[in-house]
Amino acid sequence: MPDTPNRLFEVACKGCGQVLVTVEHLRDPEIAVLEDHLRACCQSEPLPDAPLLAEIMARVPVTAVDRA
Ligand SMILES: [Zn+2]
Repeated sequence: MPDTPNRLFEVACKGCGQVLVTVEHLRDPEIAVLEDHLRACCQSEPLPDAPLLAEIMARVPVTAVDRA
């Protein structure tokens, strides 16, 4: 059995549609990437200083994709 999952998650920006990260699991480094992008991108809906994970995830639609 392969120990790598065959499913990845594409996390896009709701504001501009850009795919920000493609990952097996969202961890702090990926979440930091999302947060940085949202601060630069979503000026009309700014994040609070210490956003909850839910506040970040509400702005980034996640799509499951099969690994190529
Ligand atoms: Zn964006």
